[in-house]
Amino acid sequence: MAIRPIRLFGDPVLRQRSVPVVDFDKELRDLVRDLSDTMLDANGRGIAAPQVGVGLRVFTYVLDGEVGHVVNPLVEVVGDEEQVNQEGCLSIPGLPFDCRRHLQVVTSGFSMHGEPLRIDAHGQLSVIIEHETDHLDGILFVDRLDPQNRAAAEAAIRAAEWSGGVVPEIRLSPHAPLRPGSR
Ligand SMILES: [Zn+2]
Repeated sequence: MAIRPIRLFGDPVLRQRSVPVVDFDKELRDLVRDLSDTMLDANGRGIAAPQVGVGLRVFTYVLDGEVGHVVNPLVEVVGDEEQVNQEGCLSIPGLPFDCRRHLQVVTSGFSMHGEPLRIDAHGQLSVIIEHETDHLDGILFVDRLDPQNRAAAEAAIRAAEWSGGVVPEIRLSPHAPLRPGSR
């Protein structure tokens, strides 16, 4: 069991686009196991490789005690229904905010052994998969908040002990409507 240090908001690695896994080797299997251990130790519902400083397209998740992982995930939205849930992030500890997500997604990808896998996700699992896949593109959940919650998140992060009073950039979600002057 190996727990790796979790990178916090402001660490540049969280803003980088991760690259696809090419070698399904022991190093990858160690990474997946360490991600699972680190996620469970921190009581998280998911963790992506960039959160432990590794720029590879891999994440783990846990729901109802069942731990899973996906390598090189490809997420497809199903339908146009949305959901709003209180969401948090191990890289933004202790600061949950309401976040809008798709209700249903289908994910295809690979296991750490290189076997193809597919997950039909709905509700909470969909939230986790959307959140973790965002990490692989350098997107954080605070980027997807509405303007009011984003302002609250900025203030809360600034006030958080771990941030040292510095608020690095919260980005506008690629899917957020453009509001001139809102940022
Ligand atoms: Zn996160």
